[in-house]
Amino acid sequence: MRAVGLHADVVVATSRVYQTTCTLVRSGGEAFCIDSPILPDELEILPALAEQSGFSVVGLLATHADWDHLLGRYAFPEAPLGCSDTTAARLINEPGAAQRAMREFDEEHYVERPRPLSLPGAQRLPVPGKVEVGDHELELQPADGHTVDGMAIWIPWARVLVCGDYLSPVEIPMLHAKGAVPAYLATLARLEPLVEQADYVVPGHGAPIDGARAAAILREDRAYLEALREEGAAAKLPLARRTGEQRRIHERNATRA
Ligand SMILES: [Zn+2]
Repeated sequence: MRAVGLHADVVVATSRVYQTTCTLVRSGGEAFCIDSPILPDELEILPALAEQSGFSVVGLLATHADWDHLLGRYAFPEAPLGCSDTTAARLINEPGAAQRAMREFDEEHYVERPRPLSLPGAQRLPVPGKVEVGDHELELQPADGHTVDGMAIWIPWARVLVCGDYLSPVEIPMLHAKGAVPAYLATLARLEPLVEQADYVVPGHGAPIDGARAAAILREDRAYLEALREEGAAAKLPLARRTGEQRRIHERNATRA
């Protein structure tokens, strides 16, 4: 697991699997842990990493309800989880879905966990809106399109955008629901002014990138989605994201566009 400091108050760890990111953000003696790494050893070492860096984690935030972002309670079992209304609704309406998806992954890769994943009731945050951490506020924006739920988190004093599964340097836009292209494009439009101000953007998958690179990815993703809408499976993939796995994601996208 790689960890990198983006600002005195922001540290990002990137998982060895799926390059899923976990962001620690602090102010005035308290910290939040946004999303999570995936592997048991990464989750086990996370509390020590936070403590050594002076981040006292009092709460967890999740950008969306996909299982690979929800494992923070393995690292911080006492911390309550905060998320958007839409994510809280997904957790309630799809009981056990995250646990099942995690178990499938674990069985495929022979991963052993110390205990089952517990996901107690999440606290619903106002989105769009703000949530306090220490002396500062995080700004929350709706971010649906990848899934039907989700939020992006802007850390204004650090000029860091934690956007969930958008603007990834390693993954093309991934649509989980039919007809999601307009919602995805609307999220990109909402993220755009934040990306323009950002020193760094933390995507859900892939190491943090600077604002200029994120802006370039945003343009590529918009062009890809517009082509997907017009041409379906014939749409061209972004140049740097054309691996076999990205082509498989593209084929699934084409059935949902
Ligand atoms: Zn994800």
